[in-house]
Amino acid sequence: MARVCLTFDNGPTEATPAVLKTLARRGLSATFFVVGRQVATPEGWALAARARAEGHRVGNHTYSHATPLGYLSAADACAEIERAEAAIGALGHVPPLFRPFGDGGQADHWLLNAAARDHLIAGGYTCVLWDNVPHDWDDRDGWVERALAMVRASSSSVLVLHDIAGACGDRLDGFLGRLLDEGHTVVQEEPDHCVPLRAGVATADLDRYVMERSGP
Ligand SMILES: [Zn+2]
Repeated sequence: MARVCLTFDNGPTEATPAVLKTLARRGLSATFFVVGRQVATPEGWALAARARAEGHRVGNHTYSHATPLGYLSAADACAEIERAEAAIGALGHVPPLFRPFGDGGQADHWLLNAAARDHLIAGGYTCVLWDNVPHDWDDRDGWVERALAMVRASSSSVLVLHDIAGACGDRLDGFLGRLLDEGHTVVQEEPDHCVPLRAGVATADLDRYVMERSGP
């Protein structure tokens, strides 16, 4: 039996209420990694506030969600983190949670640059990566079996789903039912192997995700 950390990225969107409803019915708590420019709208902020009020954690998934931070200048990468954190405001978790934009779930040296890394350390952030990306956004049926297979293969994992239109929504309740029926446990705290930075304290892994030469 495995421990599974549920995360929902790229919201808030019109798909977020259905995800919240499903989680509430199942009595499960998750983490929502929100896009800053979406949470900066009144509608987006209200949805993120609802998630927080219902026991979920709200984390920072960059402001624009457009370019992995390793490809940006030092200033632009830091602004992507800061602007999103400002939009999240009081909804943010303590310590603040950050998930870099991986462009399709790829985690490698382009996730951060040195300035972004130092900014996250100085801000006391926890950087949450992932090890289970079943592609709910481009395979709205097939992701369920892939996610379950990856859950079974590891004693603990961080699952990435998306509260966006056309992604996990339709299959989420069925997936969660099977997950719980198989005896797995849903937890909020992420396992160490997916957390290269916890509350500002870096592990030896963090620099694997840092592009040492910044962009223009
Ligand atoms: Zn994303």
